[in-house]
Amino acid sequence: MIYVHVPFCRSFCTYCGFYSELAGKDCETVSRAYVEVLCKEIEARKDEIASSGHNTLYIGGGTPSVLPLDAFSDIVRCLHPQGQWDEFTVEVNPDDIVRKGRGYAAGLRSLGVNRISMGVQSFDDGLLHWMNRRHSAQEAEEAFRLLREAGFDNISIDLIFGIGDFNGREFTDAMWEESISRALALKPEHISAYQLSVEPDSALEKLVERGRFSQADDEKCARQYDCLCRRLREAGYHHYEISNFALPGREAKHNSAYWRHVPYVGLGPGAHSLRHDGKWLRSWNCDSLENYLEATEKGFQTICDGEELSEEQMHLEDIMLGLRTDSGISPDILSKAEKATAERLLANGDLVLADGRIRIPEERFFVSDSIISELA
Ligand code: SF4
Repeated sequence: MIYVHVPFCRSFCTYCGFYSELAGKDCETVSRAYVEVLCKEIEARKDEIASSGHNTLYIGGGTPSVLPLDAFSDIVRCLHPQGQWDEFTVEVNPDDIVRKGRGYAAGLRSLGVNRISMGVQSFDDGLLHWMNRRHSAQEAEEAFRLLREAGFDNISIDLIFGIGDFNGREFTDAMWEESISRALALKPEHISAYQLSVEPDSALEKLVERGRFSQADDEKCARQYDCLCRRLREAGYHHYEISNFALPGREAKHNSAYWRHVPYVGLGPGAHSLRHDGKWLRSWNCDSLENYLEATEKGFQTICDGEELSEEQMHLEDIMLGLRTDSGISPDILSKAEKATAERLLANGDLVLADGRIRIPEERFFVSDSIISELA
């Protein structure tokens, strides 16, 4: 199970706090240097990669679709000279797909990419502009069509809800419903929907500090989340994780494996890895492109730091990650004290017991953080 981080974006979205570099005119040159170094990291960590089970590859970012096709082809060649991935996902932005056209999408397909995750976020042009996205709603639809024409039959769309007033406009429930309707009209196999949060180091954080933006209240966010759950349920989607919905059988294999603590290898700047060598180890790569390139030059030691995870930490993460999914957790993993808490949560309906597993019912997913915090 491999994650590759591509640290480039063509512009920075208002709400985003992820580290990435601005992909300017020299993007092709910089990205080639990046892929060259990435391949050195792959070579240096080949034993770790070979021993990581679960045959999935996820190229995320940043914006991987800023990369030219030959960069993808180099990454694929370095990683997996023979064979196919069970699931090979690439994150794309609609503007790249529209600008580069069907040939680019078909090129990704021919490299073995069999799942696309596209950041759409909204189908309201005013909101997209405020978010500093580089595409319109119509371009998102056009990108989706191009991906379908290129043969992609597994496409995920990201949406954002729970937005406060922006540019003097209210993010109304009707606007949110309209975005859901336009997303559903495309019939994507998968939808991920996130409540807007104010991330450290984002442009949004500065707007909040200057009093130019305030977050939507909980009541509105809960209403919009309920609307999302209802509309997607009616459309036949399986709500398998708090923020994730899939048509049956189209649940994301790679992300689902993270939630089950399957070990993974993270490559590229800032990528995290999880290993199990008798004990659990989490490590992370240097998080700026400059440090990553430099570290790799010096003996390809890209891992900046790491920590050993205690049994207790892993246990708490098992509870937290498991309860975010509709598979829940086995009661057998709970300690005596946790079982007593679970009994109380079962009695008041915050948890349900079904098929021998404890889970949060969908109508309480919105307050899952507080339910989970009682147990873990
Ligand atoms: S949301 Fe995605 S495209 Fe926008 S700045 Fe963040 S990583 Fe880049």
